[in-house]
Amino acid sequence: MIPLPLLGETTEAPESPETASRLRDRLSRTMLKTVGEYQLIKEGDRILVAVSGGKDSYTMLELLWEARKKAPVDFELVAVHLDQGQPGYDGRALAAWLKALEVPHEIVHEDTYSIVLEQARDNATYCAPCSRLRRGILYSSAERHRCNKLALGHHRDDALETLFMNLLYAGRLQAMPARYRTNDGRFEVIRPLLECAEDDLARHAANERYPIIPCNLCGAQSGLKRDRAAELLATLEREIPNVRNIMLSALKNVRPSHLLDVEVAEAWEASAHKYPARK
Ligand code: SF4
Repeated sequence: MIPLPLLGETTEAPESPETASRLRDRLSRTMLKTVGEYQLIKEGDRILVAVSGGKDSYTMLELLWEARKKAPVDFELVAVHLDQGQPGYDGRALAAWLKALEVPHEIVHEDTYSIVLEQARDNATYCAPCSRLRRGILYSSAERHRCNKLALGHHRDDALETLFMNLLYAGRLQAMPARYRTNDGRFEVIRPLLECAEDDLARHAANERYPIIPCNLCGAQSGLKRDRAAELLATLEREIPNVRNIMLSALKNVRPSHLLDVEVAEAWEASAHKYPARK
């Protein structure tokens, strides 16, 4: 299961107002391009925006809330934050931020922390059981709020790390879709930030001084496969500047006829594409 976006503190220092404004515009443009290209939002949608308290979900909510005011289609947003009962959790600043934004919202209190500690076996990562529990609670909230979509704050680097993890540890060529339907068919999950760079999101979060809520669970673990994938990406970026954007382009430029998956090859052959000039 793909974990929900990670929580985390941002350590960046705020930038000048001009630089911050340019960065915000760039993030907004990138998000809107993804929304348009993958048709993530349609007329009448009611979208639950999952706000973990990390830099990505704060940005997603703020940019979507702003976009809603000028959008050519009518859609509703409901922000939902889950207090997981982690020791030392203090959600007061987050609650005040949601109130100041004037976005409809709910803060759900469920002690998933104790359950995750019980469920995670020795050396297992906390994120997988934690994400499963959080996802279930978010689905219930979406149902309660009559939402047909859930927006998650995964970004470009999450998609690339997932690609590496599947490629290197699972023997599978798989990243993250911008939208998909849940197994039970009830909701569509959308990822508006999927083409935004994590560095940009961290800088933006610092500029906006979002009240970040750190995760005490996965922060206590080290040597995770996801961390290793992130290290590999950073190493590659030192050698090949802009490699993350190049890899993102590759995810949008697939040659199914040149892979070895029989099902994919058959589907590709059966499609209108046939394989003309692609080499
Ligand atoms: S352990 Fe922390 S980072 Fe991992 S999924 Fe749970 S809340 Fe998110």
